[in-house]
Amino acid sequence: MSDTLLSRFLRYVRVNTQSAPGSGISPSTQGQWVLLRMLESELLELGAADVTLTEQGYVMATVPATSDRPGVPTVAFLGHVDTAPDYSGQGVKPLVHRKWNGKPIVLPDDPAQVLDPEQQPELLAARGKDIVTASGRTLLGGDDKSGVAIVMSLAAHLLKHPEIPHGTVRVCFNPDEEIGSGVDLLDLDELGANVAYTLDGENPNEVVWETFSADTAVITIEGVSTHPGEGKRFGMVNSLQLAAKLLAALPRDNLSPETTEDRQGYIHPAHIEGRVERTMIEVLLRDYELEGLADKAARLAGLCSGLQASEPRAHITCDIRPGYRNMGYWLKKDMTPVDLANEAMRRLGLEPCSPAARGGTDGSRLTASGLPTPNLGAGYHNPHGPLEWACVQDMELAMRACVELVQLWEQKGAGYKGRLVKKRRTAK
Ligand SMILES: [Zn+2]
Repeated sequence: MSDTLLSRFLRYVRVNTQSAPGSGISPSTQGQWVLLRMLESELLELGAADVTLTEQGYVMATVPATSDRPGVPTVAFLGHVDTAPDYSGQGVKPLVHRKWNGKPIVLPDDPAQVLDPEQQPELLAARGKDIVTASGRTLLGGDDKSGVAIVMSLAAHLLKHPEIPHGTVRVCFNPDEEIGSGVDLLDLDELGANVAYTLDGENPNEVVWETFSADTAVITIEGVSTHPGEGKRFGMVNSLQLAAKLLAALPRDNLSPETTEDRQGYIHPAHIEGRVERTMIEVLLRDYELEGLADKAARLAGLCSGLQASEPRAHITCDIRPGYRNMGYWLKKDMTPVDLANEAMRRLGLEPCSPAARGGTDGSRLTASGLPTPNLGAGYHNPHGPLEWACVQDMELAMRACVELVQLWEQKGAGYKGRLVKKRRTAK
């Protein structure tokens, strides 16, 4: 089992699937098609049913039910094929460190990059296990090719072992999670699941069912542009100066990403673009509670109106654009998907934990759209940079947890509501 999951993982990380914001197409990059087509043909080869690759770049397939118990929900498992735009994914050379001895690992293509357990205590738990790193100049792409390899191995395992009793299992590989549009174009009727899990977390004992709620504030400051030599005479109003004032007034010692942790939210200026006549600032607002999110928006709006009052010749607007929502608002109403995932992990001797994600997942959107979708650990660490690594045994554990999970749904899931499945629409 081990080499199959590992060999899949090594094959997938070699494909450059970095996504790119603002491309206006789905998937956002051609490289993702390469991996999506590879996954499509692997599923066909495994003998999965209903294998489809949609025009927007979603691969879906079915592992048919092996149990005829009535009312067993259809469970979907998802992994995203893209890697973060933040760091190069071109020419990834995965290195397998078998039975890693716990000594610092110098990455050969850039010896300044060192994986050192003293700086990264999480590594200590991987001592004696097989870990995979990149070679120094790229990310590894374990986020989320670990998840993709786990989901593919799950499908392979279930198809090979029809004696394992389970209901219908759907698998889905989606593009563009890292640019926030991973499931925007996923047709939930086509997916046809009552409940789902993303495999896109770190430790294999993680069952994440709470995420941030997120909005983005777009602040526009319009000033008055003149020839700078005549700025006084013609009344220049420099929007850059006003933007600087606004940024200086934002909280720094608290409510910023640099100073918050655990369950605290933040106000984060993430992007600025401007000239004298016009400046645009993008500010990310994050909180676990809607009230906290609204407070942050109100605080920002207050700063904008204060700035406006101080300079009536400028024109300042603050537009709040809604993002994703904490999946906990929905999951709390029926914790079955979380309870069964916890039980699956305990069956493997793992003690499950549920850290609240300081971010969103594809599941945040899916859950808000009616498909309850907690996130499970996939065995990768330090995503989005050269020091990313993944643990082979943890990926295997995550896969085995999913095998337990589909059996638990078969035994205990009858009657669970989740998302109502109409007769599944089939593409192609
Ligand atoms: Zn991810």
